[in-house]
Amino acid sequence: MTLPMKCPGQCIYCPTYPSIPQSYTPESPAVLRAKRCGYDAKKQIELRLKVLSEMGHPTDKVELIVMGGTFLAYPEDYQYQFIKDCFDALNSEESSTLEGAKRLNEMANHRCTGLCIETRPDWCQQEEIDRMLEFGTTRVELGVQTLDDEIYRLVRRGHKVEDVVKATRLLKEHGFKVHYHWMPGLPDSTQDKDLELSARLFNDNSFKPDGLKLYPTMVVEGTELEKWYRDGRYHPYPPDEMISLLIDIKSIVPKYVRISRVLRDIPAKFIVGGLKDSLRDVIKQRMERQAMECKCIRCREYGHRARNGWEIGSPHLVRMDYEASGGKEIFLSFEDANETLFGLLRMRIQSKPIISLGKQVEESLALIRELHIYGPEVSLTEQKPEAAQHKGLGKALVREAERIAGDEFQAQQMVVLSGVGAKEYYRSELGYGSQGEYMVKNM
Ligand code: SF4
Ligand SMILES: [Zn+2]
Repeated sequence: MTLPMKCPGQCIYCPTYPSIPQSYTPESPAVLRAKRCGYDAKKQIELRLKVLSEMGHPTDKVELIVMGGTFLAYPEDYQYQFIKDCFDALNSEESSTLEGAKRLNEMANHRCTGLCIETRPDWCQQEEIDRMLEFGTTRVELGVQTLDDEIYRLVRRGHKVEDVVKATRLLKEHGFKVHYHWMPGLPDSTQDKDLELSARLFNDNSFKPDGLKLYPTMVVEGTELEKWYRDGRYHPYPPDEMISLLIDIKSIVPKYVRISRVLRDIPAKFIVGGLKDSLRDVIKQRMERQAMECKCIRCREYGHRARNGWEIGSPHLVRMDYEASGGKEIFLSFEDANETLFGLLRMRIQSKPIISLGKQVEESLALIRELHIYGPEVSLTEQKPEAAQHKGLGKALVREAERIAGDEFQAQQMVVLSGVGAKEYYRSELGYGSQGEYMVKNM
């Protein structure tokens, strides 16, 4: 979590407390941890690594999420230092440059296999994209919230739907995974409208995010929205109706999307109106009763299902193609007969070259945006037999992607945006080499 600093946004629902990172409340767990460390990136990571290993989790593969306000709008020096501190902490060694720290991390004991940055759609242009690539970012969470310019104006969001379209496209064209934050129940919306806009997320090629965080609008104390609520200018949906809406949204989400969270991490005592409790279980039970299913990635992941006592069959390869943001997306996965997910790969075929990779003459550029194998948590050194089987799936997915790119699209190169700590896997197991921020292979 970054040092509290002013955000360029003025969203009327955003929790704003003195000396607390924008959009967080004083008692959010991540804030409490960060405060203990004086918001020092290195100390926060060292503490997390210590706690996680004491709990028995392997810590050799680490995903970092940069939290707090709009990081990319912070002073640039701070951004570079913060990210370098993160890598230095994972490396247990101080490098003189960010480049050096990243290189060291490729073979370190704690490898950064994914780095996520949250930003606003209007703080996600070429300049920010280039900087995120330098940081080793692999996933970007965009604060989208709705797709309606009138609501954006009303809640003083400060950007338009057009910015969402542009940011989404630019991110995908550079190989990032794109997740949206999505807020049903904003002022001036209705349940019908929220559902219609949620459907648009997946029917309209301009959007189609890879993941979604559902954040039903909450009235947090001290916000402008609280005044509206007290004056009777804002009425949250009754809890029961909000839950029905969330179920309806879940039931239309395509299989290539991961819903990673429902409800923000805000302690109930700061919430004046709207839903207060974590809803995942309520929603799940109600969906089961109505024989409805969420087909999102998270609900189908091997690990969750195995823990919940599902019978797991053997995996076969599944392919889904769809158009999005001016390119073709090919979603490959290994699933069993119940659609339990063992692993997935997202490949994009586009005509637009990646400028930083130099001259590309081909018609089609093939770009792997995500490779993820779901299995028991196993460290790099302690491979269990079942994990080895899962590991083979990763290779099989990449091979199939290479075959499709070559045979069907005559691509001559495969480009991968991988986490810094996953580069060695592509190098030693799959014959890829570093080129700029990407891993590349001539086919
Ligand atoms: S952009 Fe995000 S952090 Fe900034 S004011 Fe709006 S909701 Fe809060
Ligand atoms: Zn789901």
